[in-house]
Amino acid sequence: MLDKFLTKQPKGDRWIVVFPSMQQTLQAHQLMESSGVQGDFIPTPKGFGPVCTTAIVFSGFHGPEVQELLSNHGLHPQALEPWRSVPPGEAWQNALEQVETAAYGDLLNRVREMNAPSLEEVEQLLSPPTPADHRALQGAADALRQETLGDVVDIRGAVEFGNQCRKNCHYCGLRKGNQQLPRYRMDNKAILAAVGDVYALGIRTVILQSGEESPEATESLVELIKSIKKQYGLRITLSLGERSLEDYRAFRRAGANNYLLRIETTDPEVFARVHPDDDLQERKQHLLWLREAGFLLGTGGIVGLPGQRVASIAQDILYWRDLGANMIGVGPFLPAEHTPLENHPPGDLDLTLRAVAVTRLLCGRAFIPATTSLATLHPDGQRLALEWGANSIMLINTPETYRANYQLYQKKAKVDLDFACRSIKEARRILPNYIRGVTC
Ligand code: SF4
Repeated sequence: MLDKFLTKQPKGDRWIVVFPSMQQTLQAHQLMESSGVQGDFIPTPKGFGPVCTTAIVFSGFHGPEVQELLSNHGLHPQALEPWRSVPPGEAWQNALEQVETAAYGDLLNRVREMNAPSLEEVEQLLSPPTPADHRALQGAADALRQETLGDVVDIRGAVEFGNQCRKNCHYCGLRKGNQQLPRYRMDNKAILAAVGDVYALGIRTVILQSGEESPEATESLVELIKSIKKQYGLRITLSLGERSLEDYRAFRRAGANNYLLRIETTDPEVFARVHPDDDLQERKQHLLWLREAGFLLGTGGIVGLPGQRVASIAQDILYWRDLGANMIGVGPFLPAEHTPLENHPPGDLDLTLRAVAVTRLLCGRAFIPATTSLATLHPDGQRLALEWGANSIMLINTPETYRANYQLYQKKAKVDLDFACRSIKEARRILPNYIRGVTC
């Protein structure tokens, strides 16, 4: 694959094209590919278009050709121009002043300029040589988040509507083989009521999450998506596991906007060890199908799986970057009772935070949540994630009756609005003004 950010071209010789809709973006990408122009998806960078959209980056050598190609096909982008990087602000300079190891500082600066780092360099970023370099990494990620996304923490609400699953992932408390877990599945009426609670808070995006159900559920899910759109007009993120391309298309047609499908790890051996029912290449194919269906992509990974190395995590981050994912959740492994990994130790807090920071540095304006698993691992985990590059929080809006049975891992933190407000305040960040009746 060509280097995503085309660093072999003269500096500045990268162009970016942005469309108002995902459909046009996909159409343009297809046209470019069929004309032999390599284009890569990235979250739209600051200054080129709104957040939560996808842009295409390509070699500026093809700029005029792409301009003509798009115009011949009646496609009118809102931006088609050479890439400009955002000049470093004061916070970035301050962070870099903390660097103790000159080579580490050079690496941070190079990554900021979007010069694609190698796997070894990402591994080095994840392994700051001294405590001062560790602090500099935090400061750099926080500065970049501040410059490109601002201080507002995006709040989303999740409804975990069912815990039945046909798979047996070794780390997950919902796995089919866990006979101890009482199973539940909310009907559409109950789900709509829970979504109504999310709406009442002023939240604009609801995440519908469940175990991987059988394909028979598709029709009822399509009806649910339509009802949510009609009644509440919320943006919808689905997190339903692997399904068919036809299902993805049906969900998208019904109005769902984003799809969260975590890859968990891109290390083939680790992936195979913990996913007895899944295949890594197939998981990657599903992510491509989701894009083909027109979804904004969410994905993510676990830090601390058995056999995982720092190089594996570096590879994960490069994969997310190359995918151009719009939402990337990074959380520690946490043991779940009655699973094959119930005695495996939790993931390391510092390494997870460094993975969050490096993801921020490499993946531009992607939405990075302060994950519930980090909040569970450490009482300050959510606040720390916000300080290490995260910019969003997912509240759990599952009705109380069911909440205890959506235990992906033990002692899952109860992340409600009060909990989120505390973290936001402590991290000196801002609650979005769309949240009703609450100030942090
Ligand atoms: S991780 Fe997802 S697919 Fe795997 S067992 Fe848990 S709910 Fe099922």
